[in-house]
Amino acid sequence: MSSFADTLLNKGNTVSVNVGHNCDRCNKCSKKYFIQMNKDGKDTYICSYLCSKDLHLDYGRDYWDTVVNLEDFNHLRPIVEVKKEKEKFSIEYNELDHERNEFIQSLIDEDKRIEELEREYELSSSDSENEYY
Ligand SMILES: [Zn+2]
Repeated sequence: MSSFADTLLNKGNTVSVNVGHNCDRCNKCSKKYFIQMNKDGKDTYICSYLCSKDLHLDYGRDYWDTVVNLEDFNHLRPIVEVKKEKEKFSIEYNELDHERNEFIQSLIDEDKRIEELEREYELSSSDSENEYY
């Protein structure tokens, strides 16, 4: 009898997961998600920027490559591009919202890492270009 009830309960749980997106970190189910990742065909959702902190600890250093909704973060890129202009850069930081600042910083750190990888790639490719001259 109880196993039948369990089956019903499990069914109910499965349906509710389909309604929203289950956050992979806090297991909260919400209709909106902050980050969607897809690794090896498996969708993973992160509900908020709070849960997106230290993602690399759970998903590895390359987790950013598996983020599906990258376009949602395009508005953060100009911050990285103008990082030499201190004034513009500091506007993006909110004195009262330290968690958001940390999140932005983690994105910036991640972009720096990618930038370095790209620079290394450019260096190696420009070497081969020089052979034409
Ligand atoms: Zn969460």
